[in-house]
This record gives sequence, structure tokens and C-alpha cells, in this order.
Amino acid sequence: MNTPIEIAGATVSPDHFINGKRVASADTFELHSPIDQALLGRISEGRPEHVEAAIQAAEAAFPAWSALSAAERKPYLDRFAEEIGKRAETLCQVESRDAGVLLSRMRHGVVPRAMLNISWFAEHALDLQNRPIETEQAQHLVRHAPAGVVVIITPWNAPLMLSTWKLGPALAAGNTCILKPPEWAPLSCSLLADAAQAAGLPPGVFNVVQGAGATTGAQLVADPRLARVSFTGSVPTAKLIAQAAGANLVPCSLELGGKSPFIVLEDADIDNAARTGALMYRNAGQVCLAGTRFLVHERVAEAFTAAMKAQVEQLKVGDPREESTEVGPIIHPRQVGRVAGFVERAVAGGAKLLWGGQRHAFGAQYFQPTMVSGLKQSDEIVQNEVFGPVLTLQTFADDEQLIAMANGTDYGLGGVCYGETGHATAVAERVRTGFIWINSFGIRDLAAPFGGIKRSGVGREGGDWSFEFFCDVKDIVVPKKPFRASFSQR
Ligand code: NAD
Repeated sequence: MNTPIEIAGATVSPDHFINGKRVASADTFELHSPIDQALLGRISEGRPEHVEAAIQAAEAAFPAWSALSAAERKPYLDRFAEEIGKRAETLCQVESRDAGVLLSRMRHGVVPRAMLNISWFAEHALDLQNRPIETEQAQHLVRHAPAGVVVIITPWNAPLMLSTWKLGPALAAGNTCILKPPEWAPLSCSLLADAAQAAGLPPGVFNVVQGAGATTGAQLVADPRLARVSFTGSVPTAKLIAQAAGANLVPCSLELGGKSPFIVLEDADIDNAARTGALMYRNAGQVCLAGTRFLVHERVAEAFTAAMKAQVEQLKVGDPREESTEVGPIIHPRQVGRVAGFVERAVAGGAKLLWGGQRHAFGAQYFQPTMVSGLKQSDEIVQNEVFGPVLTLQTFADDEQLIAMANGTDYGLGGVCYGETGHATAVAERVRTGFIWINSFGIRDLAAPFGGIKRSGVGREGGDWSFEFFCDVKDIVVPKKPFRASFSQR
């Protein structure tokens, strides 16, 4: 066993969780906090033998777990959600320390949602087998069979939320899972393993193998014994995963980056739009679904810019472990350099800073909330995901120009549209993304579809969409009248 990690009075295992047991690796990697770069500890690195052990454990656990009915699996998953709840404050403190996620967000948003991610899908799996299709000729008994061993790979910006969002439906549908958490923020997923063990999930049903994406992750997704790969992360990684899984015809679900438009129409409530606009800096802008490209009608651009600037000036940048902090750190020194590089190149190319633009004095991994304007649609900062507290602002003269700009990137994840509701809805119909919020932001429901188009992803998660992905769907056809074979029958 490697040395346990102490955070805010809690102890977190740095080791893998395979077949119901902690498994240490002699190879470890360092984990640092984005808040102050403190060394939090050393994490077990997944080696080929750990990947192999996890796949064997998940395969061995599959027959018994998949043979249970959804009603029989539900108590396990309800207890899993309860055990997450028992660890709520520890999960908040730990993810805030290792990923820099705001403590307020963890307490009021992420942890309650993580519990729901498990219990909601357990509840909704109950009626999966009871959706027959009746025709004149036959009854089609549509069955959702568990697919098998599922690999789940998640990013660092929301490890607990995204891991449970995939684990919930995968486990409820009867699959066994191997989670590869993000190497920059693996600790809340280690606590999830504790919760699963305390809930009595049978050994091998849920496994955690830690390690780098290029080694541990790549070995996992290339294995031909998998039934599904569910991934959230960046576009370049998604291409590698799709190639590796595709070589074995293993279906993948890919939830990727975004460059979502935040639209402010001429008839928008400017103050409300500006208040929501400032929210795009939450988690230091490291939020896939944030509206990061502000497209503002030229007649309200000055008023909107002034209103949003006033909001941004009030944002509290600081230690995410303080409830009142609104903007925390950037995950990794490499990422800080990447964010700064985008701004430097934009300014060198003639762009204008409306606010921010520098590293923030609070700490080495902090960057000022920034807004860049004076841009062309083809500019790098308009086209590529920054994934930091850096937004862009462009103006438009009419809806045609707006739609061309809104749809003028390779991404298509989400969007926000402020304006008179009818007008905003008409615009939203023409914006090519997987979802778009009218005069609001971040309203989610577990039953609703979530995902992107174009380079923002393949597939949908949420409600039935998750079950469709994690299940093998079968049609058992029972004729209503006696069937007599005939060559003329179609
Ligand atoms: P990333 O792609 O670098 O890494 C994501 C995960 O993939 C990590 O666990 C990593 O170890 C693993 N990985 C890396 N290379 C791999 C390989 N070859 N094989 C298997 N696994 C591999 O992404 P990131 O930097 O951690 O996360 C940020 C990205 O995630 C952004 O693009 C963001 O928009 C996106 N994101 C999307 C959503 C969504 O729901 N659409 C949500 C959150 C984040």
C-alpha cells in the first residue's frame, strides 16, 4: 500500500481498486494541488498487470451482476448513493483541493448531483424491460440486455460529477465497470471506490485503475474484451480512443470540448444577460458547456460590455476552499501557459482586451477573468477551445450574420441565447449545437439528452440515451396470429 493522502482530516487511498480490494503499484506519480502547488502525495500508476487484473475482475463479475434484475440491483445502487452522501464533506474538500473546484459548487451542486446520478438511473432502469411495441401482427418485446465490461474515462474539470454520470446508468443496466480517473485529479474517484465497497457492491463490479492517459488509458481502451467505452475529454484524445476501440468495433460515447456561443440579441434583458455572462468564469472557465464566444448585437454591445464588466469586477478570485470564492485556479501549470499563450497571440494579432489578460496575483495557477474583442471569425481564439477564464466578444448586425458566426466553428456543444423569448427561441432553432439555454444557463435534467454535434461529440448521455448506449437492445418478436411459413411472405 502506498502512503495514504491526508486532506482536511480525511484519508484518501492513493491506490487502485480492483476486484473489491486496494492494489498498490510500485510505480507512482506525484499529485500537486492547483491552489498552491503543494505535493498532496504519490498515486499508484496503472501498469499492464493492473489493467489486465481489472478487466479480468470485471469480466468475472459480469455474469452474476448482469443476471440480477434492475430491481435486485437497485438496493446496491441506493446504498452506493447513500455512501457517497455519508462522504459528502470529504468529497467536497478533496475535489476542491486536488482539482480546484469551488467548494460552494461541490457542496450545493456536484455532490447532491453525484448521489442522484447513481440513484436516479437505478430507479429508471426498473421500467427498461417493460416497453413492448404492439403492432397488428406481433408484440415486440424490446429487451435491454447489459452489454458487458465498460471502460469509463473522465477529465479533471469535473471528475466526481462525470464519473457518476456514467457509472450510474452503466451499473444500473447491469454492466461491470472500470473507471480510469484523470491523473491530475484522481482523489474523489478513489473515494468513490470506498463508497462502492461500503455499499457492498460485489467485487469486480466497479474497479478503478489510475494512471496516465497515454499509457494506462490507451491500454484499457484497446482491449478487445470491452463492450463499451464511455469518454469525456478533449477532441485529440477522443480521436485516439475512437481509433483504438474502433479497431475492435467496440462502441464509444464521446463527450468533448466546446466553443459555445453566448448570444445577446438586441431585445435582451442586458443586466440579466451580463449577470449570467459573468458565470462563465466559474471553475476558472474550465467548464465544457460554458458559453465562451459572446456574440452581441452591435446596438447593445456598449451597454452589455459595461454591464458585464461591472459584474466581473465584483467576482471574488481566490482559494476555492472558501465558500465565497467565485473563480479558482487553473488545473495545471501547463494549462496556465496554454491559456496565456492564447491571449498573447490574440493581442499580438491586433485583438483588444476589454478586461483582464494577465496572470492573477492570487497565485501561480491563477489567471484574470479576461474578455478579448476586435476579432475575426477565423482567429485561433475564436475557433479553438481555451478551457480557461478567457472569453471572446464579437458583434453582429442582424440574425443572418449572427447565425453564420454562431455556427462558424468546428464545435457544436451548447449555447446560451438572451433575447425576447420568441425571438431567442427562433434563433436557437438555427444554432447547430446539442443544446441551448434561452435566457438562462445550466438548467439540467437527468432525463434530458446531453451531448454535442460536430467535433463536440458522438452520442448522447442522459435518461434513455444513456441506457441505449450501455445496453444491447434486442427485439423478441411474438406473432399475434399463428404463423404459417410461405415464400410469398415479406
Ligand atoms: P483529455 O482528453 O486530455 O483527458 C481526458 C481523460 O482521457 C483523462 O483521464 C486522460 O488520462 C485520458 N486519456 C488521455 N489520453 C488517452 C488515451 N490515449 N487513451 C485513453 N485515455 C486517455 O481531457 P482533459 O484535459 O482532462 O479535459 C478537458 C477536456 O474535456 C476539454 O476539452 C473539455 O471541453 C472536455 N470536457 C467535455 C465535457 C462534455 O461533457 N462534453 C465535460 C467536461 C470536459
